[in-house]
Amino acid sequence: MDDDVDEHGLPPAPECPECGNPMEPESFKGDERLQIAYVCPVHGVGWTFDPFVS
Ligand SMILES: [Zn+2]
Repeated sequence: MDDDVDEHGLPPAPECPECGNPMEPESFKGDERLQIAYVCPVHGVGWTFDPFVS
């Protein structure tokens, strides 16, 4: 295992810059492939994360 990734192979969820809650990674179908969005339970989607681009 690489360090700094969770059981899904993703980096640790960031905290919401607005409220400090940990953001939940959610997968969704992007334009052509699966992508990950970090979602704050209060403020909604923070940003997307493409696991196929580093
Ligand atoms: Zn928030």
